Amino acid sequence: MINVTKSFLPPYEEFIDIFKKSWDSGWLTNRGELVKDLEKRLCDYLDVNGLLAMSNGTLPLQIAIKALDLKGEIITTPFSYVATTSAIKWQGCIPVFVDISPDCLTIDPTKIEAAINKNTCAILATHVYGNPCDVIAIKEIADRYSLPVIYDAAHCFGVKYNGESLFNYGTISTCSFHATKVFQTGEGGCTITQDETLYKKIYSLHNFGHKNNTEFQGEGINAKMNELQAALGLSVLPYMDDVILKRKAISDHYDHLLTSAIKKLTYRENTIRNYSYYPVLFDSEEVLLKVSAGLSDHNINARRYFFPSLDELPYVELADVPISRDISKRILCLPLYPDLDLIDVERICGIVNSALV
Ligand SMILES: *Cc1c(COP(=O)(O)O)cnc(C)c1O
Repeated sequence: MINVTKSFLPPYEEFIDIFKKSWDSGWLTNRGELVKDLEKRLCDYLDVNGLLAMSNGTLPLQIAIKALDLKGEIITTPFSYVATTSAIKWQGCIPVFVDISPDCLTIDPTKIEAAINKNTCAILATHVYGNPCDVIAIKEIADRYSLPVIYDAAHCFGVKYNGESLFNYGTISTCSFHATKVFQTGEGGCTITQDETLYKKIYSLHNFGHKNNTEFQGEGINAKMNELQAALGLSVLPYMDDVILKRKAISDHYDHLLTSAIKKLTYRENTIRNYSYYPVLFDSEEVLLKVSAGLSDHNINARRYFFPSLDELPYVELADVPISRDISKRILCLPLYPDLDLIDVERICGIVNSALV
């Protein structure tokens, strides 16, 4: 079977050699040497500061909302993974959905201002498939209304925008290192913030609210990355340039072979991509279902991602976001992972193209 993704794994010996350090010392978590080493190497590789490793990519969203002490309405995108919205609800805030731009599929900044009122406390937007939000326009609005900006940058490992890490934009960025993501530690994730006070607050919150061994400063949670996760990350990281190059080669092959009747995503200018996904947009949901079934017949798994539009979740209020509703019904992510054979890409394109005639 060809799945929509497959985790990149280094040679087993490289992982176990690194993990052995933790095994021999018997220190398995609570910010061991491997987690600290991974954070340092990630900061170097990504060219960022203020990165804190965590146990997954969802708790960093919840902790970001908590650390900023957000209460009330958070302006957000309906076109993302469920975690973006569930984190807002979990923290007791109200998601206010603003529609996306039809080309980049990120939140449409021209529609943000109309959604701001006295209860608005922040903007939480997603860089969809690693495609940057219009961060400059969003910053201008956020500054004008003194709103913090959280970016769900789960898809953005290694993405650069205007010559610097995309993680550097916004008040806080979060990333996921889930097994299905470009860089993976099985489960894992991080926050990135340039604000030192905020970093310290996030640090404390991710470790039960500890101030020191005996004192606490507010209710925290446990979001610590453990040494097993860090060992996997340390063994995967040296391969990341190669992983992204291979993803690019596969994406380029798709670009070449898919019929021009299929609409592809527009990437924002001045972006260095990580080729995290290969989304294609069909004319209708009917065509999408036909293609998807055709692929299934050949044991190939594409994924409806993102679907549904998040304003259709059973625990939020429906919103007037026609573009997100429409796109989410018509978009499909095709298989993309570093060791996907180019012959298989050709086969997939053949099946997709023939379903369209
Ligand atoms: C994967 C993902 C998350 C959640 O990350 P986990 O590490 O699986 O908890 C959040 N937001 C987006 C956009 C994602 O793709």
